[in-house]
Amino acid sequence: MTSLWLDTAGLFITDPLIPESRYDAVVVGAGITGLSSALLLARSGMKVAVLEARTVGAGTTGHTTAKLSLLQGTVLSALRRQYPQKVVTAYVEANREGQAWLLRFLAERGVPFQQRDAYTYSVTDGGSERVAAELTVAKAAGLDVEEGVDTELPFATRRTIALRGQAQFNPMDVLGALAGDFRDHGGVLVQGARVRNVKTGAGAAVETDAGTIHADLVVLATGVPILDRGLYFAKLKASQSYAAALRLPASAPIPSGMYLSAETPGRSLRSYPAAAGELLVVGGNGHQVGREPSPRRRLDELLDWARFHFPGAEVTHSLVRRGLPGHQPDALHRQTPARRRKDLLRDRLQQVGDEQQHCRRPGPQRPDPGRKSALGAHHPPARHLAGRSRGGDHAERGCGQDPGGELGESRTGRPRKCPHRPGGRRGNGSQEGPQTGGGVHCRGRHVQAVRCLHPSRRARELE
Ligand SMILES: Cc1cc2nc3c(=O)[nH]c(=O)nc-3n(C[C@H](O)[C@H](O)[C@H](O)COP(=O)(O)OP(=O)(O)OC[C@H]3O[C@@H](n4cnc5c(N)ncnc54)[C@H](O)[C@@H]3O)c2cc1C
Repeated sequence: MTSLWLDTAGLFITDPLIPESRYDAVVVGAGITGLSSALLLARSGMKVAVLEARTVGAGTTGHTTAKLSLLQGTVLSALRRQYPQKVVTAYVEANREGQAWLLRFLAERGVPFQQRDAYTYSVTDGGSERVAAELTVAKAAGLDVEEGVDTELPFATRRTIALRGQAQFNPMDVLGALAGDFRDHGGVLVQGARVRNVKTGAGAAVETDAGTIHADLVVLATGVPILDRGLYFAKLKASQSYAAALRLPASAPIPSGMYLSAETPGRSLRSYPAAAGELLVVGGNGHQVGREPSPRRRLDELLDWARFHFPGAEVTHSLVRRGLPGHQPDALHRQTPARRRKDLLRDRLQQVGDEQQHCRRPGPQRPDPGRKSALGAHHPPARHLAGRSRGGDHAERGCGQDPGGELGESRTGRPRKCPHRPGGRRGNGSQEGPQTGGGVHCRGRHVQAVRCLHPSRRARELE
């Protein structure tokens, strides 16, 4: 099983990358941010190219719950704890503009979306306080949020607020429409082109594996910083979460609203009108990447929760976000011990290898790039990223060899030893730059018992 959205995605037309070609603008990343930006630039008359490392929607956009809402759980009160109200209000206004633009675009292009009410709810005292805070900040930001509303949820809630008239969609439908319109405006969309570096000077040179192209303007819409400038990659907090689509028995009503809980671990619910009938989409149970011994257990917890509250629900799609393509939970009980061991190994590899999971933007407490801690001595993704000198999707960055093997050649031509190997070289984090071949993430506590694989080898192992 795969992402519900990617399961329904059509193939996107890809254009060839012509080395040394010139554009007014190059947009890096074909998620919703990159394709919206590219379309607006192309519509303004610019000659635009989009470079996508994988395929359209392969990043976060193809794995979200795809709610287009100005009420976003407890985001506004979280922002308010860090910024003055006027910043929160500006955030809401920007979201309002973006939402209105996208809904207009979808309506014009005949892309299906559903208008739905958005809810933030709590089931604990702590959650209730957060919902109350969200209500206060949302109202101050000019949102017409209602309190004390009823829900269609099959369990009691403590406090619930609602914002009427929001929207939901299938994100791949939206990306398809954006990409189509972009190409209709003369845009060039290249998939499978990973940007490795951007050199600036008179114009910019965008370097990819397939060659370099040039532009006056470069938009980085990669979700995570791909260039090492300012050590921004070290300021990210990477987390991963889980999602599933469920078919309910005919007699069981599917909540029509879009729900987000105020508690941790979070719960997200929405419906999806699939061709074969309406589905319930549940998500949540997120955690920081590399801090959970068993991602599979997290997914199972989410599914157990869904089945408990929606008896008779049958899982049609499940997803440990990206990299591990979900599983049929029922099949777990039929697994052999060997298969189970392989799954556990896969979970562990997934855990350390999927730093490309959704990465949150930095909070206000910016680490001092000069301090060693800024390189994330206790921050697996940052430590992992520290092992490379140039841009690129950090999910692709790996140690490269097993702990008992070599780490390729150093710049001096001498073979490197994996730092895990008994008697092998053990540098500190700051030494694990490109000079030592990286190998940072394979020192994480969860992977020490298993081989450190290059992503390509890892992918083969997982097949
Ligand atoms: C679990 C979850 C649920 C969410 N739910 C919602 C929701 O309901 N509503 C909402 O509005 N937002 C939601 N979000 C936030 C969501 O992430 C954003 O709204 C949006 O999808 C981000 O899109 P993006 O285009 O910025 O990034 P992405 O979709 O991640 O696109 C970035 C693209 O850049 C590409 N790329 C990366 N590196 C390179 C490189 N070096 N060269 C070339 N290409 C590269 C990637 O392959 C990727 O395709 C959710 C996020 C998560 C994690």
